[in-house]
Amino acid sequence: MAEEYDLVILGGGTGGYVAAIRASQLGLKTALVEKGKLGGTCLHKGCIPSKALLRSAEVYAQTKHSEDFGVFTSDVSVNFGKVQERKGKIVDQLHKGVQHLMKQGKIDVFEGMGRILGPSIFSPMPGTISVEMNNGEENAMLVPKNVIVATGSRPRTLPGLEIGGKVMTSDEALAMEEIPKSIIIVGGGVIGIEWASMLADFGADVTVIEYSDRIIPTEDKEISKEMQRLMKKKGVTIVTSAKVLPETLKQGDTVSISAEVKGEQKEFTAEKILVSVGRQANVEGIGLENTDIQVEKGYIVTNEFFQTKESHIYAIGDVIGGLQLAHVASHEGIVAVEHIAGENPHPIDYNLVSKCIYSAPEAASVGITEDQAKEQGFKVKTGKFSFKAIGKALVFGESDGFVKIVADEETNDILGVHMIGPHVTDMISEAGLAKVLDATPWEVAHTIHPHPTLSEAIGEAALAVDGKAIHG
Ligand SMILES: Cc1cc2nc3c(=O)[nH]c(=O)nc-3n(C[C@H](O)[C@H](O)[C@H](O)COP(=O)(O)OP(=O)(O)OC[C@H]3O[C@@H](n4cnc5c(N)ncnc54)[C@H](O)[C@@H]3O)c2cc1C
Repeated sequence: MAEEYDLVILGGGTGGYVAAIRASQLGLKTALVEKGKLGGTCLHKGCIPSKALLRSAEVYAQTKHSEDFGVFTSDVSVNFGKVQERKGKIVDQLHKGVQHLMKQGKIDVFEGMGRILGPSIFSPMPGTISVEMNNGEENAMLVPKNVIVATGSRPRTLPGLEIGGKVMTSDEALAMEEIPKSIIIVGGGVIGIEWASMLADFGADVTVIEYSDRIIPTEDKEISKEMQRLMKKKGVTIVTSAKVLPETLKQGDTVSISAEVKGEQKEFTAEKILVSVGRQANVEGIGLENTDIQVEKGYIVTNEFFQTKESHIYAIGDVIGGLQLAHVASHEGIVAVEHIAGENPHPIDYNLVSKCIYSAPEAASVGITEDQAKEQGFKVKTGKFSFKAIGKALVFGESDGFVKIVADEETNDILGVHMIGPHVTDMISEAGLAKVLDATPWEVAHTIHPHPTLSEAIGEAALAVDGKAIHG
């Protein structure tokens, strides 16, 4: 039987379920189709479980050094089963929360694999969604006025480097039952560095192999350099400018792989390999061939309101590429729904999106890097302030890192803010707000920052832009 909707959303990840809630708030009759679990990658295989593991690793690493705080403990050890159990409980609680929100919003959730049909007896336009139900019931036919494709992404691997045995992506790594004694991480981007930090804190011997000449290569160069220094300080081996050669993979009691490093072939051996070389959009098997929707370089193409070539079919989140982040996916979902409802939303300025890395130390940024600013022709001035001179950082026992502000010498606009150090992922929103409000470094500096707080580093970095830092 066919059911009519104002909106059907394909995929119940962060992008899809948030879009569904906004649609329900705006009075649209909405259905959400999810083949797996509501909450998607972020809740089940991404943001939340990885941060739960990172937190346990952080607690373990800190407890081992508790004597520095005058607190003496004995026999500190990790029960990884308990660590995983804690992670599972957090995910379950949030999963229930999302299910509750769907009920509260009177959103019809269809558990199954959705596919877009072409023009049919149900509608002269493509966009009817056929759902192959997980419970084996007859396919549901949903006939919507609008569709949002939010099918997300999955881990990418290197051609020839098949996943299985001792070779994992983040999906398998999250389900590990034991901490490996040693691990090779292929890819030193955000996910790779979070895993490197976590596993090193749990006591594993970690080697990161990165193709670029620096880890986290999309961040400001000074942040990469400081992250590399601090990862090495915790024992992580980092190999940059290294091209992994998948054909050299050998698996036995251990696993080994070679990489071409600055013209030389080097072999690396460990108990496991984690491949973290990016994510691939889920564009296959969802019926795009029944539509005029364009796919370029593996991602669905949209305009600034997330309309595809079929103007009543929208696409949001990881499936359209760009910044593959949960908060980006959900914001895109809100803009798409508001556009559908005729609410005239603002297109997203991606330059205002904060990006976070939850390693220890954390890193966070908003806006452009110093190099990008120079490439774009700005006359740049910068202010930098170290956490070493921040009382609260010393109290915390975490004084590595700094805040760096990149500003335009001519207009005083803040072009970018880059941070590495304690709790910077919670502090970046001040910089984000400053950018949204088009604040100058002077205005940030004169937002009197309470003492003692870590946020004083932001105020001081803002003063440092004009050479006026008080404690620097
Ligand atoms: C290890 C890891 C850590 C991460 N950490 C962070 C972080 O700290 N912060 C952050 O912002 N981002 C993080 N991310 C990225 C974040 O998870 C994604 O950007 C986000 O989940 C994208 O949301 P989405 O809704 O576009 O897609 P997804 O969350 O991937 O959801 C898509 C959903 O669609 C469903 N689906 C697909 N095809 C169909 C179909 N045909 N029918 C029905 N359902 C379908 C899938 O089952 C899935 O549930 C992390 C990712 C990983 C892998």
